[in-house]
Amino acid sequence: MKTYLIDLDGTMYRGNQNIDGAREFIAYCLEKGIPFYFLTNNSSRTRAQNVAHMTALGFQGIEEKHFFTSAMAAARYARKMNIGKKAAYIGMDGLKEALCEEGFELVDEDADAVFIGLDKSADYAKYSKMLKMCLNGAKLIGTNNDRRLAVGDSYDVGNGAIVAMFEYASEQKSPEIGKPYPVILNEALETFGLKKEEVILIGDNLETDIALGYTQNVETILVLGGVHGREDVERLHIIPDHIVESLYECMK
Ligand SMILES: [Mg+2]
Repeated sequence: MKTYLIDLDGTMYRGNQNIDGAREFIAYCLEKGIPFYFLTNNSSRTRAQNVAHMTALGFQGIEEKHFFTSAMAAARYARKMNIGKKAAYIGMDGLKEALCEEGFELVDEDADAVFIGLDKSADYAKYSKMLKMCLNGAKLIGTNNDRRLAVGDSYDVGNGAIVAMFEYASEQKSPEIGKPYPVILNEALETFGLKKEEVILIGDNLETDIALGYTQNVETILVLGGVHGREDVERLHIIPDHIVESLYECMK
């Protein structure tokens, strides 16, 4: 039996809206003893906040152990780089929690590493403060490279666009952590004691969820109704192993 690594936004829910079949699929996995984890580029929520968000949407049986985020991947990856313990960051509680869990000391100046996760309230002064630390030798580490963030029927600026701004200003290159890059997958597999051939990636986005599986030889399921449709498979030439209209189709 394979372990599902499931995307959150667009696959389990859309913002604060339920997606038909998602709650039922999780209930099915729990009932059948099918293991699953959530693999998300969203660095903003802590594990507890993720549990609360999904519970409020009517999911049952979700626990903190089920989540692996780009913030957790970035913190683990950076800890192994041995770049020092002092971290400054732009981001929300999820990134803060991940950094503390990996033993980083949070500082406002003289950081060894500057982490960039999404914080919609960050301003020019804060960006400039982080840039200064990067110019003084702190390593730039973005949690994910999402170009845009789907909001309603349009988009906001994604964290990847902000990371790109820092790369340009600091003349550094951030490591690539979130989906579709393999770091988040490898850190998750290591954390959960799994191998690539033991997992299936489920997601709504060809360019992140499915591309990760496609390039890393991991089985994938594209769930329609999110970012991409069937017509995009040909256009982008990112080929899922399976395509389903909804997660109801995975319950048999
Ligand atoms: Mg998604």
